[in-house]
Amino acid sequence: MTAIARRGVCLVISAPSGAGKSTIANALRASEPMLTHSVSVTTRQPRPGEREGVHYHFRSLEEFRVMADTGELLEWAEVFGRGYGTPRAPVEAALSSGRDMVFDIDWQGHRLLRAALPNDVVSLFVLPPSLQELERRLHTRASDDPAEINRRMDAALDEMSHWAEFDHVIVNEELDRAVIEARSILTAARLRTTRQHGLAEIVSSYHVPNP
Ligand code: GDP
Ligand code: ADP
Ligand code: 5GP
Repeated sequence: MTAIARRGVCLVISAPSGAGKSTIANALRASEPMLTHSVSVTTRQPRPGEREGVHYHFRSLEEFRVMADTGELLEWAEVFGRGYGTPRAPVEAALSSGRDMVFDIDWQGHRLLRAALPNDVVSLFVLPPSLQELERRLHTRASDDPAEINRRMDAALDEMSHWAEFDHVIVNEELDRAVIEARSILTAARLRTTRQHGLAEIVSSYHVPNP
């Protein structure tokens, strides 16, 4: 059967920092070459190993404000006292050409993106198996200093209070299982009847009567 044309899916993944959303998003992209990561703009400093344009677009607060004011950002929010935002142009290009995008954004970004693209967003909230394990992962990742880890642990409770706003929730205990679950959610979103343009033509060629 020929491939059915469809608009891309926006897969939003949110979680308290350290729950594993970047790890899950990376694993998904490793097995889904057509899945593009939305590279956010941030005013925070790069962590060791983070590269400009790959993990984030690192910008000054001034530059960030100009982008927000001129409509270059599809959504933006203040997280941990810094600016984070989603560049608009890559999202519009991906969706119209049928490519799916994964977004690692916070609960505010999820609300704003859903409002901006009500028919395109499917969302997933990742919970840690316990608060102790969340803190252990933040320490193991060793990318933030102890004061930043404390800030993120405090913010974790607030982030988790929004879990019920999401379409799907998974607990990231065993990573392989969490990745399988996330992939299933993406697959189901792709197959929604309303996403698949061209189905009517194919079905009518089978001479199926109208209901
Ligand atoms: P991590 O969560 O520890 O990996 O830390 P990050 O620095 O990657 O992300 C910080 C916060 O910003 C998280 O809550 C993300 O969900 C959020 N975030 C990242 N990108 C975006 C974005 O484009 N838009 C919005 N609204 N939030 C984002
Ligand atoms: P987030 O993007 O949500 O802040 P990360 O993906 O950076 O979180 O994960 C935080 C840390 O926890 C990383 O060191 C990662 O390797 C580890 N991690 C992620 N998922 C699991 C898991 N299921 N079991 C154990 N460690 C995990
Ligand atoms: P980190 O500093 O650990 O990279 O990110 C901190 C938080 O900011 C994470 O929860 C991440 O999902 C969120 N975040 C990253 N980029 C954006 C963005 O473009 N918009 C919003 N609203 N949040 C973002």
